[in-house]
Amino acid sequence: MKFNDMHVHTSSSPDADLPAVELCGMALEAGVETIGFVAHVDLHPSDYCYNGFSESDYLEELDLAESSGVRVLRGLEVGEPHIFMDKAESLFTESRYDFITGALHWIEDGLILDEAPFLHGDHREIVEKYYRETLKIVQYSSINILAHMGIFRRGMTRAGLAVDFDETILFPSLIREIFATMIHRGIALEVNTSGLRRPEKTTYPTAGVLRLYAELGGRRITLGSDTHKQENAFFGLSSGNSLIRSCGFTDYGIFVRSEYASCPLLGN
Ligand SMILES: [Zn+2]
Ligand SMILES: [Zn+2]
Repeated sequence: MKFNDMHVHTSSSPDADLPAVELCGMALEAGVETIGFVAHVDLHPSDYCYNGFSESDYLEELDLAESSGVRVLRGLEVGEPHIFMDKAESLFTESRYDFITGALHWIEDGLILDEAPFLHGDHREIVEKYYRETLKIVQYSSINILAHMGIFRRGMTRAGLAVDFDETILFPSLIREIFATMIHRGIALEVNTSGLRRPEKTTYPTAGVLRLYAELGGRRITLGSDTHKQENAFFGLSSGNSLIRSCGFTDYGIFVRSEYASCPLLGN
């Protein structure tokens, strides 16, 4: 088995604790041949990772991993890039990275990975806002990959809410517009498997959302485990691979120097 995992955090992210070189050693055992590393660049003042990014430390860490036998790709995960990209860009040198991933964690002062917004607010309204903000991200940010679309299911599950709804039925035109924009701008959709290790037991996005992306002509897909710690390293890649195949795709991809390159899914 050989996977390309495009969402792996190292100890350069304040909420993760494994050095890149150790992750590369573990990758060889887990059948991962390419790691797309990311570091959080979070500029929402209430975020746990706020201002926790040091480009020099991160790149030094990745340099050490280069000779490990695993292909190392250099990436960043920028939080709310439609709001903070200018500020974020002052903290990194774009030419040093293979890819930039955009992520939505916050809607105003609500962390949607957490239960709090869902305990006090109308959850349908929050989900709609999430997609409205996501549309702004794909319209206005210079990103290569949209991370973990639908990660509000984590917060909803924590709040005891059901997450087995289909947002392509609730907000069809909004989600179609997001995908049309991504396809037009060459932004890839990430299939993030971290929800498979959480009580909600689903990928972000769900299969239904991924099927709509395929139907609309979306072809750029990346697979990411969102690894933060040893116990969840590279979790769910095989299931993610099967899910992508079951939605009609034959390949997925990586970004090297901002260029998308496709690779066959396993099992072809
Ligand atoms: Zn994230
Ligand atoms: Zn992440």
